[in-house]
Amino acid sequence: MQIADDMAVLINYKVSNTDGEVLDTSEGDEPLAYIHGQGDIVPGLEQALAGKSAGDRVQVTVSPELGYGVREEAKVQTVPRDAFESDANIEPGMRFQAESGDGDVIVTVTNVTADEVTIDANHPLAGQTLKFEVEVVSVRACTDEELEHGHIHGPGGHHHH
Ligand code: ZN
Repeated sequence: MQIADDMAVLINYKVSNTDGEVLDTSEGDEPLAYIHGQGDIVPGLEQALAGKSAGDRVQVTVSPELGYGVREEAKVQTVPRDAFESDANIEPGMRFQAESGDGDVIVTVTNVTADEVTIDANHPLAGQTLKFEVEVVSVRACTDEELEHGHIHGPGGHHHH
């Protein structure tokens, strides 16, 4: 069976930056389960996996545009330190959920001074060219229920029933 839209796909993956540093991997964990064609994974990887079958190995280098997006400096903001709890220990590298016009976003604290905190709402991998090494574990059609929920049930997926 070949990967196409609305298929439930399980993959083992490793993603590295252009320096060869491994940023994320499914190794030692369950394979990643996703529904093909609905943007669960970055577009460049989704395109590379279309038409592949269980057992296939795929290596693809993905540009920021087809990965986690280009960095947008407009997403870096400086806010007053007193916007946070006075006893909160705010440090660079901390990540938290914040509200924006487009809904909740994950922001990363990049700088802290006595009165200001700089936060960055870009995805941590935005602006990076990424190399994905993927092994297709299994491919099957989604059930109607999975399509309705927008996620996979069973191994690698949700177990909420
Ligand atoms: Zn569900």
